[in-house]
Amino acid sequence: MTRNDWTKEEILDIYNKPLMELLYEAATIHRKHHDPNKVQVSTLLSIKTGGCPEDCGYCPQAARYHTDIEGNDLMSVSQVKAQALRAKASGSSRVCMGAAWRNVKDGQEFDNVLEMVRTINKLDMEVCCTLGMVTENQAQRLAEAGLYAYNHNLDSSEEYYKEVISTRGYQDRLDTIGNVRKSNVTVCSGGIIGMGESLEDRAGMLVALATLNPQPESTPINALVPVEGTPLEEQQKVSIWEMLRMVATTRIVMPETQVRLSAGRTDMSREGQAMCFFAGANSIFAGDKLLTTPNPDVNEDMEMFKLLGLEPQKPFEKKSQPQTVSAEESQYKPLGEKPKWSRPGHTIERNVEAKQKAKTKV
Ligand code: SF4
Repeated sequence: MTRNDWTKEEILDIYNKPLMELLYEAATIHRKHHDPNKVQVSTLLSIKTGGCPEDCGYCPQAARYHTDIEGNDLMSVSQVKAQALRAKASGSSRVCMGAAWRNVKDGQEFDNVLEMVRTINKLDMEVCCTLGMVTENQAQRLAEAGLYAYNHNLDSSEEYYKEVISTRGYQDRLDTIGNVRKSNVTVCSGGIIGMGESLEDRAGMLVALATLNPQPESTPINALVPVEGTPLEEQQKVSIWEMLRMVATTRIVMPETQVRLSAGRTDMSREGQAMCFFAGANSIFAGDKLLTTPNPDVNEDMEMFKLLGLEPQKPFEKKSQPQTVSAEESQYKPLGEKPKWSRPGHTIERNVEAKQKAKTKV
């Protein structure tokens, strides 16, 4: 049974169990709710890279930090279609399109994204978008275009969020998730470990996710990939043991959710990943890049699947394919809303320092 009343103390008790007990419990729950030999494969595609106005301390796409990533304008529908076909041929059931935006704005660019959603849905693949904050009307328009999932990560606990991002508040994240929930689109929301947060913060993030009712259909667990030029560039990498504990704990408190191994997988051995699959991870991102950070090559992943006897989950196994409504037949018109997403405006010293350093480095 899925519970929505988890407390931080309960989650910490689970996280800190002797490892073998934790893994056994997580694996038992995993088998009750999922086929343990199936792993969902998503391809993450950066459709608009860099130049983002936000100050997320982990992100090389924030315009204010000095990183080596190459920015690009919004891709065309045909470029996206070509990439989706490639992803499908290599075993992906889902394409997740990411744009480095603070929030979605009605207009030509969003219309193009809606056309991308229709195009990929027609390829019989699940389509996910991660575009920043959305209003209820925008979520409905995405749903109508055939969007299967919307990703909006909570990143960390509400308390630690303030130590990483100052340009928007935690409530904005929850509001966007609420807007998506009012549509027929599934929710993908997770976070990042290794940003300097405490175990209480990790548990706090899981409380925030697990007490959503319903819980997110998928939850990415990222290990921070420290990128030079970002405020978190000197952060220690997380160990496989922390990752395992986080995956197993997520599985126990969110039994139905697809738990996804996301950023940081290049630092994990095959043995480490196998343990994560045993502990309840049942989704990965494929493709050699995760937006801007490295990721294992898809052929290596397929070799690993063969070695472990895993098979990629087919599209729409968990929920049926959404219908696609054409732009002409849409019943939702753009409202041109200008919602007041918050700007908490507090100062995060290391973000300010990284910004200053970027200015002097040119
Ligand atoms: S994580 Fe997203 S919102 Fe934050 S800086 Fe990067 S692209 Fe922008």
